[in-house]
Amino acid sequence: MNKNVDLIKADLIIEARWLLPIIPQNTLLEHQAVIIQSGVIIDICAITAVHDRYQANETVQLNDQVLMPGLINCHTHAAMNLMRGLADDLPLMPWLEQHIWPAEAQLMSLNFVHDGTLLACAEMLSGGMTTFNDMYFHPLAAAEACVKIGMRANLGLVVLEFATNYANDAESYIQQGLEARDALRDEALISFSFAPHAPYTVTDATFQRIMTLAEQVNIGVHTHMHETQHEISESEKTHGLRPLNRLANLGLLGPNLTFAHCVYLDDAEIKLLIEHGCSIAHCPSSNLKLASGIAPIAEYAKHGVNIGLGTDGAASNNRLDLFAEMRLAALLAKGQSGNATAVSAHEVLRMATINGAKALGLDDKIGSIETGKLADLTAVRMSDMNMRPCFDVASHLVYVAGREQVSHVWVNGDLKYHKPNSSDGVYSNVEPQELSDIINKWQNKVAQFRSSEQTI
Ligand SMILES: [Zn+2]
Repeated sequence: MNKNVDLIKADLIIEARWLLPIIPQNTLLEHQAVIIQSGVIIDICAITAVHDRYQANETVQLNDQVLMPGLINCHTHAAMNLMRGLADDLPLMPWLEQHIWPAEAQLMSLNFVHDGTLLACAEMLSGGMTTFNDMYFHPLAAAEACVKIGMRANLGLVVLEFATNYANDAESYIQQGLEARDALRDEALISFSFAPHAPYTVTDATFQRIMTLAEQVNIGVHTHMHETQHEISESEKTHGLRPLNRLANLGLLGPNLTFAHCVYLDDAEIKLLIEHGCSIAHCPSSNLKLASGIAPIAEYAKHGVNIGLGTDGAASNNRLDLFAEMRLAALLAKGQSGNATAVSAHEVLRMATINGAKALGLDDKIGSIETGKLADLTAVRMSDMNMRPCFDVASHLVYVAGREQVSHVWVNGDLKYHKPNSSDGVYSNVEPQELSDIINKWQNKVAQFRSSEQTI
């Protein structure tokens, strides 16, 4: 009779057929319950035992799903969803200089960033992502979109030397970034890093100033690095050094640095990354599409470099789909190294979760399903015909599953996306009409820009 008195109250119990906690490594549990209170995982126990210990406001049963940590997109430019497919089949520099930068000069604004980021968040949530590492302009507008839909973001405070619609020079980028950070100091879903765009767009003095400031305000630094051979040879001509060595010579390497791409690293550079604890955001689709090359991540991983996975922006991918990136990363690593045992399914799942969290300095909060961590969780349906039979859930997640199998996404213990069988996904905080209005508005605006560009 008095049994209920002893029960511990919780907000949510999720009962999962399978649980992939990521930590401990290479582990798959069955019939486990995850107990959540105030957005935090307070316990994990067998489903058979959970109701003897806990009483929850809500219980969700995932009878056909695997529950895993929310995926972490380690490198993207979210608002560029509005420029998806605007200029394809081009190498990096002509794509940037002749298409993307002119389009941004015409179109980029507070509204552009808010709307593009909201669409990107909708795409990412529906693909099982709960956190992304962004690099784009107008962080206040990006943050508004993230908070509205309920997605976690590490916003990169962009710094360039040249003027855009957002800022005039390096110092004004830095000041606006710091002001945005101050304004959003209490926003739980938002964290920040500095994002000097790339070694080829940022001077030594600006890199030095950013690294000093990053240390002072205790945030990370996110930049493109060694994306193409062209970038490296130009740096050798201009600075007499490869870009990574240039930063190393300035004494700027450290564990708070995340480098997007690193398609080309020699042995000494791999050592530098390990020595200083820097992370890589590996973006295989973008590197292939821009013909930048294939990053030899089997080699990097063998040496112990922390590697997260990124989609890059929708203008150079053209999907924000980490299931696609996981599969491609594993396959390319094997093909490129000539070693089929390189980068296993479990290893690539760690890249898309805990390694990404580590790259963002958030691994004490997210990236695995452990007591004390935030309840950022993704459920993937394993019952679809093309997912059965199944002998190894981790293998299916990497080599078989697609983002269409994502059924539930929670951020901070709140359901943010849900897709009942064979129907459209539902966002908890945003109506489909709002997303469709945004799409129609920018479809017209960007198409107008595109036709004006083609008549020049
Ligand atoms: Zn990028």
